[in-house]
Order: sequence, then structure tokens, then C-alpha cells
Amino acid sequence: MENIIELNTPKSLRLHIGFFGRTNVGKSTLVNYISGQETSIVSSVAGTTTDSVYKSMELSPLGPVTLIDTAGIDDSSNLSKERISRTTRVFNLTDVAIIVLEANVWTDFEQKITEQLNTKKTPFLFVINNYKEESLSANFLKHFSQYKFIETQLLQEKTHREKFLSDLKQNLLSIIPEDVLNLQPLTQNIIKQFQTVVLVVPLDLGAPKGRLILPQVQMIRACLDTNAIVIITKETELKQTLERLKDKPDIVICDSQVVKTVLNIIPKDILFTTFSIIFSANKSDFKTMLEGIKAIKNLKPENKILIAEACSHHASKDDIGRVKIPKLLSKYLGFEIKFDVSSGIDYPVNLEQYSLIIHCGGCMINKKQMISRLNFAAEKNIPITNYGMVISFVNNTLDRVTEPFIQKN
Ligand code: SF4
Repeated sequence: MENIIELNTPKSLRLHIGFFGRTNVGKSTLVNYISGQETSIVSSVAGTTTDSVYKSMELSPLGPVTLIDTAGIDDSSNLSKERISRTTRVFNLTDVAIIVLEANVWTDFEQKITEQLNTKKTPFLFVINNYKEESLSANFLKHFSQYKFIETQLLQEKTHREKFLSDLKQNLLSIIPEDVLNLQPLTQNIIKQFQTVVLVVPLDLGAPKGRLILPQVQMIRACLDTNAIVIITKETELKQTLERLKDKPDIVICDSQVVKTVLNIIPKDILFTTFSIIFSANKSDFKTMLEGIKAIKNLKPENKILIAEACSHHASKDDIGRVKIPKLLSKYLGFEIKFDVSSGIDYPVNLEQYSLIIHCGGCMINKKQMISRLNFAAEKNIPITNYGMVISFVNNTLDRVTEPFIQKN
């Protein structure tokens, strides 16, 4: 039996497995079958799964995964338009896909979904639900000549679950690229074993009560995993913290909002960067984000920028995305900057209206989603950059905060 306890692993660090298929081919049955739970509602009425259903579990040896049971998108019910849009969104966060289909039935749907996954370079395999136990025709089998497929009778498979799961996992392991399976640690290339790291965490009005925010928690964990010595302080105690250390720290990492304050405190020979820039280097394409900064100088009063955040959070009155960055940019440019904010998994389709996208570190989404956002911006020819880079740029400290990455590349 698989372990199906809920884990604390953030969504962004899980392998996302998307299940696609026409309505009533057994998608939800398969998801339930893998998770061992009634995660999705299984019904004989076409289109019961009206929205994508997410289930997190540990699927050894793949590790923490999120199973995404997408809504069937081939029916003609009133809800189907909305379903199509929601299912299409899942493409952007799927690391590996499973297409469920009936034996000897290959329709436009399977053809299109295969093409879309290939376009997105998402690895996939097929599960053929042969519940009538038919022989598979040569005409049908020709569609799988380049792909992996497993033939099964989903309804009857309960007694053979272990064997089926083992086959499925073996096949998944063989198609998932190495870099997706083994996510690089946040500390990669910048922090080594036994190095001393000082994390500067401001507790301003935007900080949640009684806890740290996810990028800070993930960074602490990454430092501990690297066997580094990690010290956490606020910017107000940073000077005293450094004075009490016998040796200088190897690197200081701060929240973007206190870049200027921290730089005034730390000596010039200590490496220095921000949480946001570390996430940008780890989850997206560092060079593209750095290149995007150049667009700031060309901004005109009639231009509009998009502030993109990958989570929805309660915005405080000095929110970094909605208040601090627009204010800093307006001051730098000498005119009031126009901007929109997108948050959570929604990402605008009409990017053409923006002259620049400024994205948060994206700690809550996986690398696949972040890269999709970069690709989408590139398709529309819109420069994209990162919170920490923008704040450092307007404070004239970009060279300093990007040095840990440039040095090692
Ligand atoms: S997803 Fe973005 S805005 Fe939300 S906590 Fe992570 S870095 Fe901050």
C-alpha cells in the first residue's frame, strides 16, 4: 500500500502528475486507484468532475506528488467551456501527464492533447482502459509507436493494484527528465557545507503574525539540508549579529524590501543577495530575468506594467508588490507608473498590454509553471524580471546582489 498521509512538502516541490482524458474513460477511477482514496467523484454520468481535483500524496520512489484529476473536456454541457479553460491551465503546471483512453478509440481529443503536451515538452504516457478486454487493433496501436502505454482493466484492477502501480511508476520514472525528478536545492552553487549564512528577515506590517513566510522557511530548510550554519535576524539586529560572530559570514541573504538598509551595514567583501533572486535563479531563467531589468529605462508614462505574484495573500498597506515596488519605480522614473496585479495561479492571457512583467520569487509554484510564465512572456515579446532585481536596480545595488550567481556561472 502507498503511504497516503498528507505531507508538509510545499506544492511547489512536489511532482505534478496531470491526468487527461475524455469524459467517462476512467480518469477519476485511475486517480482514486493510485491514491487509494475516493479523491474524485466517480460517476457514470458524463462530466461529473467539473473542476480539476488536486490530491497530494507520497508515491514512493517518486517522492511527494500532486495528482491532478482534470475535468473532462470533450462534452457539450454548459459548464464545458469553463472546464476547458481550467483544464488548459493544468497544462502549465503538469510535470508529467497520463492520458487515459478507451481501447480502440482514438479521437481528435487524444490527438490534440498529445500534440499540446509535445508542444509544451511535457513527458506523458497512456493508460488504455480496456474494460471490455478487446484485442487492440493495429490501427489503434500505431498511435503509440513512439510512446509508452499500459493496457489495463481499471475496474477489475483492484486486486492487481500493486502490480499495476509498480508498472505505472516504472514507466513514469523512465519518461520524467532527471532535472524534474531531482530538483536542485535553493542553495546550489551559492552555499556550501559548513558555510555561515545570515538570513535577514524584516517583521514589518506585511509579515504574517506569528510565523515566517514560505520563501524564508524554504531557505532555512535548504541551508540546513546543505549542512550550512544558518543565523536568522531582523535588519534592526543585523549589526549586533555581525559583531558577535567570530568570523564574517560567507553570505548574507535578505528580504528584497531591506536591501538598502542591509547594504549599509554589511562589509563590502561579504557575498550578498535576496530571497527573491535566489528563487528566481532556482525556479526560472536567471539570465532572462536579469535581461528584463533593462526594460525599466525605456518605460514611458503611458506604459503599464504587470506585477505578478504566484500566490494570493492578504495585501497589507505597505505590500511589496502593490505599494512598495510601484512607489520605488515611480520615484526612479519621475512619473506615476501604471500597473495591474495578478496573483495566484491566474496569469493574464492578454500580456500584450504590458511593457514589463515584474514577478515575485514564485515560491508557491513549481519550476514548470514559472518557466511557462517566462515562455508565455517571451512568445508575446514582453520583458520579465523579478522583485528583488527591480528593488536592487533602483537602489543601484544590482551588481552586488547578482554577484553570487554571476561569479559561479
Ligand atoms: S508565491 Fe511569490 S508572493 Fe507568494 S510568498 Fe512566494 S514569493 Fe512571495
